[in-house]
Amino acid sequence: MPSTEYDAIVIGAGFGGSSCAGLLAKKGLKVLLLEKNARAGGKAMSLSKKSFTYTAWVVISAPTQGTLLEVVLKELGMDGKAEIVAPGVQGTRFKNSRGKFVVGPQPPPGQVMNPDDMFDWLEVGGKDREEALKVFMEMTMMPPQEIDNLHDISFADWLNRCNVHKSLYAFLIGPVSDGCFMVPVDALAASEAIKTLQDVFLRSGGVFCKGGFGKLADAYAQAVEKYGGKVIMRARVEKIMVEDGKVSGVVTDKGVYHAPVVISNAGIQPTVLKLVGEEHFDRSYINYVKELVPSWGMMGTRYFLSKKVVKEPYGVIFTQDSTWNLQKWLEAKNGKMPDEVTVWYEIPANYDPKAAPAGKQMLMTGFWCPADPMISDKEKKRWWDKGEEMLFRAIPELKKHIEFKENYSAREVSLLTREHVLPGQGGECIGLGQVIGQCGKYKPSPKAPIQGLFFVGCDAGGYGVGIHQAVDSGINVANMVHKHHLMYKSMS
Ligand SMILES: Cc1cc2nc3c(=O)[nH]c(=O)nc-3n(C[C@H](O)[C@H](O)[C@H](O)COP(=O)(O)OP(=O)(O)OC[C@H]3O[C@@H](n4cnc5c(N)ncnc54)[C@H](O)[C@@H]3O)c2cc1C
Repeated sequence: MPSTEYDAIVIGAGFGGSSCAGLLAKKGLKVLLLEKNARAGGKAMSLSKKSFTYTAWVVISAPTQGTLLEVVLKELGMDGKAEIVAPGVQGTRFKNSRGKFVVGPQPPPGQVMNPDDMFDWLEVGGKDREEALKVFMEMTMMPPQEIDNLHDISFADWLNRCNVHKSLYAFLIGPVSDGCFMVPVDALAASEAIKTLQDVFLRSGGVFCKGGFGKLADAYAQAVEKYGGKVIMRARVEKIMVEDGKVSGVVTDKGVYHAPVVISNAGIQPTVLKLVGEEHFDRSYINYVKELVPSWGMMGTRYFLSKKVVKEPYGVIFTQDSTWNLQKWLEAKNGKMPDEVTVWYEIPANYDPKAAPAGKQMLMTGFWCPADPMISDKEKKRWWDKGEEMLFRAIPELKKHIEFKENYSAREVSLLTREHVLPGQGGECIGLGQVIGQCGKYKPSPKAPIQGLFFVGCDAGGYGVGIHQAVDSGINVANMVHKHHLMYKSMS
């Protein structure tokens, strides 16, 4: 028997892995955190270039009030190591009936948006407004036991029972649901959508971390060493070792490490199919893992501007026709790009003046794209061109102030984070999709069918929007692993 060096090894310092590792170390376990990149943060890592600092792409978190991002930072005693900000201002632009893009109303500081201001902006009047208010009330006030009955229907089917005005529907889907979940609304589980949107509507959104979100994950990772564990960056796990049906450690390009518990933030599909290997699982589990549906991808462009053009920190450009559904997506993928698509944008320097050289700003965009990291350059150009066309339609003045620009795609997302192990997978924006059959009681278990192997991050164990979901998983999986550790320790 090899000697056990650690109580638990965590593979990956994304938001799921770093929060889980920090919390387990604080609970007293001897933790080793291994990350293949030079820095923590995974899909929300920080980058810098020519005195601009930013999260690698458009990343904005929700909810604001009671955000778990801050709860974990405090729990780890790392407050002061990262500064979370939420200015409560946004620049979402809706194309109105006169064809003009109009910025939406701003809620008063510290408060949520007044529905009437929103309905004025969306041109929802008279009887439609009553119906709209009813939908909002039903959604935001729905009790948990009722939400629990909605795992098997899509959010589109739930909304379509009501007579929702077209621009309100476009708002609920375009900037909100398409952005939070990155799966088509007719595939999105209504339960996950409503539970999460209650958080967003009642507790607001627009959270950012100064220095880029990666700074926050760095703080979580640093907590591992503060509580006696070890962090090794630039250490790629090549294999998870299994002996007699139990995990025994990992093989990396920096050495071999032993532990009775391995928690993988590398994604369920890459973990099972590549890091452990199909031979260690039942055929039915392998088939189940192969059939899991990833979220869609997001690609976009970073525009480095010679002057400050936009004053809001983030926003969404959308129209009555820019929402996605499965049919429209398939057509776009097969070459019939819709005339209008939704575009998210973020300006880090409008959250944090230190994020750009004085007088300049970087605006980055993000829009849906296939999660497949292997799509051709020609295909990528089709999506980048459409995203840029929408941006210039809504904010034309931006065009003449571009000093240089750079594109990113699902390929960069995959290279930095999740390995491509199945066709069409690897560059997903969130993790596994929050679709019917993968939410609520159907959510993949964070516990794998091998003793001591767990998954953490957006694939299992949490709910919510992107990084918030990953941290929710980090908290829940840390609690689960802590119990597992105590139980096995008491038996040995
Ligand atoms: C373009 C884009 C835009 C987004 N916008 C938003 C947004 O606005 N709001 C929001 O909340 N979320 C957003 N997200 C989603 C969010 O960033 C992710 O859902 C979240 O960060 C996922 O966290 P995770 O812990 O599940 O996994 P990941 O971030 O994928 O972390 C996994 C970690 O494991 C490491 N790893 C993988 N394999 C190995 C290995 N073999 N050895 C060692 N280390 C390994 C990776 O390097 C990575 O650090 C966006 C994502 C993208 C790509």
